[in-house]
Amino acid sequence: MPVTARPTIGVLALQGDVREHAGALERAGARAVPVRRPEELADVDGLVLPGGESTTMSRLLVSFGLLEPLRDRLAAGMPAYGSCAGMILLARQVLDGRPDQQQLGALDIVVRRNAFGRQVDSFEADLEFTGAGGSGEPVHAVFIRAPWVEQAGAGVEVLARVPHTADAGDAADRIVAVRQGSVLATAFHPELTGDERVHRLFVGIAKDAQDAEDAQDAQDADGAEDAEDDVDLVDLEER
Ligand code: GLN
Repeated sequence: MPVTARPTIGVLALQGDVREHAGALERAGARAVPVRRPEELADVDGLVLPGGESTTMSRLLVSFGLLEPLRDRLAAGMPAYGSCAGMILLARQVLDGRPDQQQLGALDIVVRRNAFGRQVDSFEADLEFTGAGGSGEPVHAVFIRAPWVEQAGAGVEVLARVPHTADAGDAADRIVAVRQGSVLATAFHPELTGDERVHRLFVGIAKDAQDAEDAQDAQDADGAEDAEDDVDLVDLEER
């Protein structure tokens, strides 16, 4: 088994709970660094996209020159975790968004922005969360002007839905946490509750991706050596 170093996880530092995410990542076993510039993005093993306002964050991604580099890294398989506005940015499509807001398209989901109702700024619920560990204890979720997932493609794993509580109303059963490969998203803010199980899940995903990359590098190096051996053989045969 490869021994994985502590992964370096960037926190997109344009808006939102950057410090809280960094703290949760460190407690979950990662090294956390802020990311505002393309050079900083190039150095991380994974990225957290915090909450905020997806329309503003989308604009800031463009003005900081991060949109295309981020799309490239996601397309190349970089692990990412988006919370709330971060989930909206990672989605393929947003409903009730602004027409000019940019989507990263790393998750095959359609999200509805501010889905919990404009009057209801905040909603809390205890969720059953697949893969959160901690002997199956529910995850206490804080939703702040949150989106929900209206459609999820076949490759998307649903990790949590809103339970049928008295105050859930229309929100009952809505999908609020998903994973597709190395990309994770929650409609809520786990960085606010001091429970770092969601961050642990993400750090685990980043470590697995690192192990897979190391194994691939080792295989490529072997392949290169074999190719060199072949060249030597050809040389000998030709002599
Ligand atoms: N309503 C915000 C948006 O549309 C998300 C809110 C949040 O991230 N807490 O982007």
